Amino acid sequence: MSYPINKSYALSGSQGDSRIASKNYIIIHDTGNDNNKGSNSAGNEASYMKGHWQAAYTHFIVDDKNIFQVGEPGYVAWGALDANPYSPMQVELAHVDSQARFNESYKRYIWLIRKYATKYGIPLTLDGAGTGVKTHQWVTNNYGGDHVDPYGYLAKWGISKSQLAHDIKYGLSGSESTTAKPSKPKKAEYFNWTPYKIYAKKQVAAYAKASQVGSGKNVKKIYKPKAVMEVAKLEGHRFKLIDGTYVTANKDYVNNLYYLPKSKIKQVRSVAAKGSGRYDDIKFNHKNAHFPKGTYFDIVKVMPYGKASRFLLANGDYISANKLVNKIVK
Ligand SMILES: [Zn+2]
Repeated sequence: MSYPINKSYALSGSQGDSRIASKNYIIIHDTGNDNNKGSNSAGNEASYMKGHWQAAYTHFIVDDKNIFQVGEPGYVAWGALDANPYSPMQVELAHVDSQARFNESYKRYIWLIRKYATKYGIPLTLDGAGTGVKTHQWVTNNYGGDHVDPYGYLAKWGISKSQLAHDIKYGLSGSESTTAKPSKPKKAEYFNWTPYKIYAKKQVAAYAKASQVGSGKNVKKIYKPKAVMEVAKLEGHRFKLIDGTYVTANKDYVNNLYYLPKSKIKQVRSVAAKGSGRYDDIKFNHKNAHFPKGTYFDIVKVMPYGKASRFLLANGDYISANKLVNKIVK
């Protein structure tokens, strides 16, 4: 399945930003313009962008009938403020006025996103850490700004965030969508106990109130992957942190930092960039050696240490049982 690209409104060589974009993100938008949702809504937007490119423009605008190119893919476009230099392709989904038209426009949108992500070696992951396909909402969360598209518009036509992520990853060309079994979104698993410390597996937002977790509103702090947080208590599906903010207790997003004393662990490997120290005592008062990243240690036992834990080695020495320092091999 392939769709033609209409270049009627493509910028000329002397128009648009002349910088080559870093190939980090495909940035996806909707036009947010319900005043233009009749037939040829993408053409109307593209025509306007071509005439006003000095204010803002993206690379593509899609509706149910057409894919219009405005900015030259590979070069910087002006649709997402500070993230623009990192995006060789930004696409707008033009508004439409019926479910049937939406379905057609969405097929083209997904097809185009996947085509250019593949072309530029950008992962087909939605709003995760690192490179990948990013919504304007993600850009706002990570680079600032105030746009939150396109989740609201997609939701109006029945496309959830998890459906969008699935479709970007697997595509939905005619044959695939009818024959491929849609993979069921995994049911979220939450902590039912309170670890001393946790770390972010993906980017995690901390909120002022428990009820705001996941809303994108009133974010107090963003924790990058591997960032460590100290937990005050578990409240339902949320952790209250010691600074009073709340994060999700979803195990896809956070994990307990220390291996638990009851764990059966035979071998670990040093995974921190700075390597791992080895100590005479469980309190880590007397360091007797330091080992580089990649070193394997055979473990006798996981020992409790305060609210945390340590690994006991066969020679009676101790190393860290922090998962970000020494990770289980077997
Ligand atoms: Zn946008």
